[in-house]
Amino acid sequence: MKRRTFLQLTGASLGAAAFGRAPAMHAQAAPDVVVVGAGAFGGWTALHLREMGHAVRLVDAYGPGNAKSSSAGETRQIRASYGNRELYSRWAVDALARWQAREAEWGRRLLYPTGQITLSGEWTRTLGDTQAVLDRLGVENEQVERDELEYRYPQFNLDGVTVGHSVPSTGVLKCREGCVAVADAFERAGGRFTLARAVPAARAGGRLQAVTLSTGETVAAQSFVFACGPWHLKMFPEILGNKLRLNRRAIFFMGVPDRDNRMAFPNCPTFVTRGVYGFPSIEGKGLKLGPYWDSGTLDPDEGDRTVTPDEIRRVHEFTDDAFPAMAGQPLLETRVSPRTNSVDAHFIVDHHPELENVWLLCGGSGHGYKHGPVLGDYVARRVTGQPTDPELDATFRLKNETF
Ligand SMILES: Cc1cc2nc3c(=O)[nH]c(=O)nc-3n(C[C@H](O)[C@H](O)[C@H](O)COP(=O)(O)OP(=O)(O)OC[C@H]3O[C@@H](n4cnc5c(N)ncnc54)[C@H](O)[C@@H]3O)c2cc1C
Repeated sequence: MKRRTFLQLTGASLGAAAFGRAPAMHAQAAPDVVVVGAGAFGGWTALHLREMGHAVRLVDAYGPGNAKSSSAGETRQIRASYGNRELYSRWAVDALARWQAREAEWGRRLLYPTGQITLSGEWTRTLGDTQAVLDRLGVENEQVERDELEYRYPQFNLDGVTVGHSVPSTGVLKCREGCVAVADAFERAGGRFTLARAVPAARAGGRLQAVTLSTGETVAAQSFVFACGPWHLKMFPEILGNKLRLNRRAIFFMGVPDRDNRMAFPNCPTFVTRGVYGFPSIEGKGLKLGPYWDSGTLDPDEGDRTVTPDEIRRVHEFTDDAFPAMAGQPLLETRVSPRTNSVDAHFIVDHHPELENVWLLCGGSGHGYKHGPVLGDYVARRVTGQPTDPELDATFRLKNETF
């Protein structure tokens, strides 16, 4: 698909006038759409629906970007490097422009332009695919040879590294704060947010009539979007039980040395090295490390959110080895969150198989946050019956494959 076509299909036509409707004036009236979940997926969807002129009710059990959700925590990376999965590279390029526009519109800092370096022992097929896609999309990127790596990145131990891939337009997004910013914008635009747990209520004629909130209220609507992140497994176990897997991910913040600012923004890019990805210290938070180690599953309600002694030992070993100036630096903070993986790592945007006015929106699969502004626009269009790209619709459908 040509980029221009892509933008036409997914580009925001913000404002009620674009949808031919006046903004809803009575916040208490029955909404057109109820969105359950104010994480990255639900929040952006609710905002786009509202900006199209719909009466929207956004409901979240614990609040936007809450500590139990997948959108919890300080930061997420926005990168266009996806191997040969060009769809997500295109979306990331579009999303970056939209995050920048929203930052300016809301007067709120949400993006740190860090750049990114992937360090590798060899030029892999995935790096080659990424380079080919980024070249096609006109995204600046560079294969960096060892000598140049030594000059540019003296803070890294380059033993075993022969080549790097640099993408200067990569950045870091504020995560929880981004969800709060989206929910604020939604409310400013006339949307109604409620802190409550929602459960599906009565069904009739293949349609959901309403949701019941933990506040005791019953909310009827024409359409319902369930964007419940890891809770989808509990909400719709019969449909999603074997199509989603929760993956426990541990994040570590390491103290950076005083008198050496090489590990902090803007002097250090985001990076991938030795099986760990990481971000520079931003806003004094410490060097963020996200090991790709397999670490089991995590229940979003009851799961143990503490890291293990073995993980702490390994992260110190990694830090001491990967960054000579970081040897002996303290561990400042840890965070354990659930990742909601779909079978093929594609997002799921589809009708509930038995309820035609219920949309399932999930499967962020460890890369969904950055795409919020583009995904929310796309979902809002689908929910309201506007034309969308059939190729995207097929990519995001609920597939037959199971775990
Ligand atoms: C450790 C980690 C690192 C990641 N790194 C990146 C990255 O660098 N870049 C990137 O783009 N993506 C990244 N991701 C993925 C990204 O964070 C997720 O794809 C995204 O945040 C998912 O958002 P969501 O809205 O689907 O789910 P969530 O954020 O979990 O939101 C679901 C919401 O639904 C609410 N809810 C659930 N059930 C109910 C109910 N019954 N009633 C009311 N409310 C309910 C919850 O309270 C929650 O707020 C990462 C994920 C993790 C876990």
